[in-house]
Amino acid sequence: MKRILLMLILSPLLAFSQKTIIHCGKLIDVKSLQVLTNMSIIVEGKKVSAVVPGYQDGAKGDQVINLKNKTVMPGLIDMHVHLESETNPSAYLDRFTKNPGDIAYQALVNAKKNLMAGFTTVRDLGGTHVVISLRNAINKGLVEGPRIFTAGVTIGTTGGHADDTNGINETFKKDLGPEDGVVNGVDDAAKAVRQRYKEGSDLIKITATGGVLSYAKDGMGAQFTEEEVRAIVKTAKDYGFKVAAHAHGAEGMKRAVLGGVNSIEHGTFMTAEVMNLMKERGTYFVPTVIAGRSVADSALIPNYYPEMVKKKALEIGPIIQSTFGKAYKAGVKIAFGTDAGVFGHGKNAREFELMHEAGMPVLEAIQSATLNAADLLGQSQNLGSIEVGKSADIIAVEGNPVETIQSMSKVKFVMRDGIVIKNVN
Ligand SMILES: [Zn+2]
Repeated sequence: MKRILLMLILSPLLAFSQKTIIHCGKLIDVKSLQVLTNMSIIVEGKKVSAVVPGYQDGAKGDQVINLKNKTVMPGLIDMHVHLESETNPSAYLDRFTKNPGDIAYQALVNAKKNLMAGFTTVRDLGGTHVVISLRNAINKGLVEGPRIFTAGVTIGTTGGHADDTNGINETFKKDLGPEDGVVNGVDDAAKAVRQRYKEGSDLIKITATGGVLSYAKDGMGAQFTEEEVRAIVKTAKDYGFKVAAHAHGAEGMKRAVLGGVNSIEHGTFMTAEVMNLMKERGTYFVPTVIAGRSVADSALIPNYYPEMVKKKALEIGPIIQSTFGKAYKAGVKIAFGTDAGVFGHGKNAREFELMHEAGMPVLEAIQSATLNAADLLGQSQNLGSIEVGKSADIIAVEGNPVETIQSMSKVKFVMRDGIVIKNVN
């Protein structure tokens, strides 16, 4: 009698505390680097409320999701994407033809491709103000997409990688400043960071050296002084921003690391000296091996890139994978990132294959895209592993990636913040 009474009192409450129970045939523990078998994850609202051995039965009204023949892991995090664009041979014309609205629709489609590929969180490393609006729209639940942390407008130097007027005729050319993400000197550097704060960026991206796809001759020389980097890092700290540095050549990379950035992106010509500095300072390496491969492949297609870019793509692209292998063996901290946009969005998981090929064990590669990435984002308390109290960002792939790494591209289940986005057989 007492029990019935209790049920009557609790039943309206129970309707609100409906749980989702996920039965996992295999569950990757990214902390211990073990594959657990026959596990249940309990999700309540947006959070994980328990992870227990065995297949738990649900109470009446609970949702049970059967992933007994899949491998379950935390939602993946890609630390280097460009949501606003996707490679195409007319990319260099886009800046004259596309309006912000065009970019926004494209960015939404691109963002969705990342999410469907199992990337429940992405770090966008450079675009316009549109990506900030997209992040806000996703956060408000207006549109569906991955959780976005974005640098907004990238910060470079005059004529450098990220100076948007490179290669443009004098009608359109203008002397860009901190507001547009172009700085010269420490005052500009501080102002550019404050401008990003004003616009709503989550972090700062700088182009410490030349780059492959900019319409400029140099793809690897240093483009910031160490003082400029220091000014950026110092100002960024005032606003709680981390700083990511694009870098191909060793000198620019060294200045960026000594200047205090949190991550080196691409890192193509990283020397042993730079690796040691990064280890000393705990600087992350975000390799983007797939981007190197993709630009080298695209460069072989006639007229895909301008001649100037083609030369750089062939020279720089193929080197990243072996550099990554050396850096991993040297013990540099690795966070997964692909530069999606430079190749087709949604194919990000190919990076796992390339990382593995270069000598990184599969579970460590998955750890770099979960636990490590969350650490570099400064989101360890909420993201990066399936643990009580963290966001219920959970994915499942077909087969067992430890045996067949290609499994990482066969994402069958995606949950973000406790909401099932994808569940196919
Ligand atoms: Zn990039």
